[in-house]
Amino acid sequence: MPPERSLSEKIKIAPSLFCFFLLLCSFLAFSLDIATRDMIAFDVFYFPSVMLMTWYLGDRPGRLMAVLVALLWFLAQADVGFSLSTRTLLLDGVVHLLTFALVFWLTSRVRQSAMLLGLRSKELARSNLELEQFAFKAAHDLQSPLATLFSYSEFLAEKSGSAPEDGKLTLCADAISKSANRMSLMIKALLDYAKVAKEEKEVPSVDLSKVVREVIESLDAAITDKKAEVTIDPLPVLAINPGLAGILFQNLIGNALKYCENAPRIHLSAVRKDKEWTFSVRDNGIGIPEEARERIFIMFEKLPTKRQYPGSGIGLATCQKIVERYGGRIWVESKPGEGSAFFFTLPALRAENASLTSRNPA
Ligand code: ADP
Repeated sequence: MPPERSLSEKIKIAPSLFCFFLLLCSFLAFSLDIATRDMIAFDVFYFPSVMLMTWYLGDRPGRLMAVLVALLWFLAQADVGFSLSTRTLLLDGVVHLLTFALVFWLTSRVRQSAMLLGLRSKELARSNLELEQFAFKAAHDLQSPLATLFSYSEFLAEKSGSAPEDGKLTLCADAISKSANRMSLMIKALLDYAKVAKEEKEVPSVDLSKVVREVIESLDAAITDKKAEVTIDPLPVLAINPGLAGILFQNLIGNALKYCENAPRIHLSAVRKDKEWTFSVRDNGIGIPEEARERIFIMFEKLPTKRQYPGSGIGLATCQKIVERYGGRIWVESKPGEGSAFFFTLPALRAENASLTSRNPA
């Protein structure tokens, strides 16, 4: 099957036709100029056609066009310039030839830089995709040895249960189980991160209140364990992949629960401003120092804290990737020791579809 023509190739036709049209116009002005024996400033027609020719058809047609228009200008001057001295005439021609050569040179330089930039960004996008696919495959394939690790650690734990006097065995079983859990957390976070890159043909409209309710259900054990209280204002219906929306809220609410020393008080809300919604997830946790508020969105970035919290350092990087995928932004405001508020924006649905769901406190 022949490769499909790229978009830039497809749109090449229209500007080249346009530049020929400009050239025709300038010839018309040129003829009028001769017919009326009047000075008409038609050279302005040439500049766009030289630039467009160079840009869309390449260096040679651009160069040819520059010589052609300079000649045309020269002829036009000759036609009306019987009273001018030949010296002035030639000088005028040379100045125009130089001007067009400069226009041509500048246009071709800009064109080359744009092409180079286009190539580089394509290459970057390709290598990014390759990396994401690699991360997904690696994380996926690591699940099977991890399952083996889990079953052996269970086996060891059973053995240590039947021989409690063997302290070494208990320690080993415990260490393996802890490492396997940490690895499982990392793999899950990596898989979530890789999921963000996946193409989707159609983005469905999703009731975010429903998504958050499901997330809270899945965090039920941690909520009960920490005696947390989660309150939710009405959330909108938006065009976002429900799986990704779930990962986004799961990470933010999960962090709010985790990075808190007292009973967590978490509040979710959303306000609409013009074409976007700003969401917030507030907590009364340990807070984040000012100098770290941008850094925490970097992959694998974990802040040194008094107490050790489990985590992969991938959660907020994933949140940022999800939000940016839909053209939004994410940031945090915080008072260390008092709590943090994570904000993110998402584009609103068109007016006719946007709606607020009923109030759904958790
Ligand atoms: P992790 O898996 O370690 O939680 P994240 O990417 O989710 O990784 O978060 C990065 C770092 O940001 C965390 O290690 C923690 O120090 C800080 N952090 C994230 N959320 C909060 C929060 N709600 N309160 C305080 N610190 C937070």
